[in-house]
Amino acid sequence: MPDMQEPRVLIAGGGIGGLALALTLHQIGVGCTVFESVRELKPLGVGINLQPNAVRELYDLGVSADDLDRVGLPAQEWALVGLNGKDIYAEPRGLLAGYNWPQYAVHRGRFHMLLLAKMRERLGEDAVRTGCRVTGYRNVDGGVIVDIEHADGTRSQETGTLLIGADGIGSAVRAQMHPDQPPVHWGGAVMWRGTARAKPIRTGSSFIGLGTHKQRMVIYPISHPDTQTGEADINWIAEVTYDDPGEWQEAGWFRPVPISDFIHHFEDWKWDWLDVPALIAGAETAFVNPMIDRDPVETWVDGHVALMGDAAHAMYPTGSNGASQAIIDARALGVAMLEHGVSAAALKAYDDALCEPVSQLILRNRGAGPFGLLNMVDERCGGHFDTIDEVIPPAERAEFMAGYKAAAGFAIERLNNAPATIAPWARVG
Ligand SMILES: Cc1cc2nc3c(=O)[nH]c(=O)nc-3n(C[C@H](O)[C@H](O)[C@H](O)COP(=O)(O)OP(=O)(O)OC[C@H]3O[C@@H](n4cnc5c(N)ncnc54)[C@H](O)[C@@H]3O)c2cc1C
Repeated sequence: MPDMQEPRVLIAGGGIGGLALALTLHQIGVGCTVFESVRELKPLGVGINLQPNAVRELYDLGVSADDLDRVGLPAQEWALVGLNGKDIYAEPRGLLAGYNWPQYAVHRGRFHMLLLAKMRERLGEDAVRTGCRVTGYRNVDGGVIVDIEHADGTRSQETGTLLIGADGIGSAVRAQMHPDQPPVHWGGAVMWRGTARAKPIRTGSSFIGLGTHKQRMVIYPISHPDTQTGEADINWIAEVTYDDPGEWQEAGWFRPVPISDFIHHFEDWKWDWLDVPALIAGAETAFVNPMIDRDPVETWVDGHVALMGDAAHAMYPTGSNGASQAIIDARALGVAMLEHGVSAAALKAYDDALCEPVSQLILRNRGAGPFGLLNMVDERCGGHFDTIDEVIPPAERAEFMAGYKAAAGFAIERLNNAPATIAPWARVG
């Protein structure tokens, strides 16, 4: 049985969610160990967004603006542009929008390595055990026993007070908790992703969604520009929605593919302010991944075990909030442990607070999230317009976006007026 004098949280998965949780537990004085399946954590992935609610939590975790400026840059604008090159919607982001905290566009891998360095510095090298895949768990009196498969094929068990499954969209913890869950859900959209060196457009730090509800480019810089050349790392996502799901069903995260696989979809996408084929061709590597998520489940908790991040709520990236929500989950788990101790009761409180609203967010993102404006443009004018105001009046556009932001926890006044999620002096026990 676990030693209740020394509570210890076992974390399955050392991605963004697992590491944000480890840093949070360290802040509130709770011991933890992260078990990560890969032998070595590397700076993988391309661009992700950190919304102001998550940046606030990162600052409170001692991840500073200077740290974030080394792995990304503050976002200034979010814009949707039609194939005619005309704006459908544009709004300022982060500090320019009135948030007390910026929104950051970062390189996922570099940001991940930043969290890893902070964690090792504070918790010690042994706090992340790589080459350790969590394969199952058993709730026991006062804690949990976790099965680990090591990279060399050997197996062992670890005993802890709680287990948190932060093991991503293919979560083994979730598979045991919900053995009847359906396979990952795919709605027919395929994304090809890459980064290229190029000069940023519009504000210099704009997130641009360009195209239609069936085919679009998402483009935004994820580094500050070079002072000599003016060029930055530009993240691009080329996305096409297919009517026949067949051939893509089995594709996993981030398979490298040649550009010739998909560039033909975008060969005419050239304007005087943007050359899409040149941008795509500028990438050293392109990765394909289907836009997948999972159906919501009714609970993220089973006794002394809880899910967080993509293991709890893998969602379409349309709302740019997968990583942000993983960070929010980590902080919510910290709050629950401050209120209820390192206990099953804390996990229940966390589940009660987040499972239902975040599950709604999965479905909102499946319905295109903020990109839903593109669907409205298609329904009303088939993408042909002179002035967007005649198709969707400004008040209706603003109302649509406000509804999404409130649901995603990005509502400005609510966030600005909320006290710190975890006070700097707060400790469990
Ligand atoms: C390699 C990689 C690249 C990505 N690139 C992008 C990107 O470019 N853009 C984007 O929007 N999103 C990307 N994502 C997803 C994005 O990071 C997540 O949506 C978001 O950050 C939520 O993070 P998470 O910690 O819940 O999950 P993840 O970031 O997926 O992390 C899960 C971690 O758990 C580990 N793991 C899995 N199974 C087990 C197990 N059984 N036992 C122990 N450890 C396990 C994985 O190796 C991984 O490190 C990527 C994810 C990964 C793993």
